[in-house]
Amino acid sequence: MRGLSFPENKVKTEVMSLSPPFRIGLGYDIHVLTSGRPCILGGVTIPSEVGPEGHSDADVLLHALADAILGAAGLRDIGHYFPNTDPKIKGIRSTLIVQKALDEVTQRGWKIGNVDLVLIGERPKIMLKIVEIKKSVADLLKINPEEVGLKATTNEGMDSLGQGKAIAVQAICLLYRG
Ligand code: MG
Repeated sequence: MRGLSFPENKVKTEVMSLSPPFRIGLGYDIHVLTSGRPCILGGVTIPSEVGPEGHSDADVLLHALADAILGAAGLRDIGHYFPNTDPKIKGIRSTLIVQKALDEVTQRGWKIGNVDLVLIGERPKIMLKIVEIKKSVADLLKINPEEVGLKATTNEGMDSLGQGKAIAVQAICLLYRG
């Protein structure tokens, strides 16, 4: 019966309107640590005998963050936008990668609510740089430092992270309709 098609359309409209005005996204990255490389985390240079290896400036913290931002909007990961096989972007500053992620979600009507980051590794120690890194990330995302969580944990001596051979970061991001 033709009359039955109306409720079906109504249900479809209601389901669409249930889509929440916020999204969360998750990011993860890990880099090998090697001597003779700068150690840049969250856009801040950290005094360290070792630094992350990578095609870019290897800012593992910003890579995880960019993926969290992109993921929250259902977009592709940073490898899609910045393939590590592209010689043109060798040594690129990762602040530009986060800027690109921010531009992509902003164009789609999203704003950053907050981000939270966990750095996992034995070295370098970032305790003395946490405030500076939080401010750097906040400035990059145009949010307040209180909206940037940053913790560091060891891996209790286990595997490559625990043995100081690598550094990893987990990131989560909340987007909302501005
Ligand atoms: Mg990376």
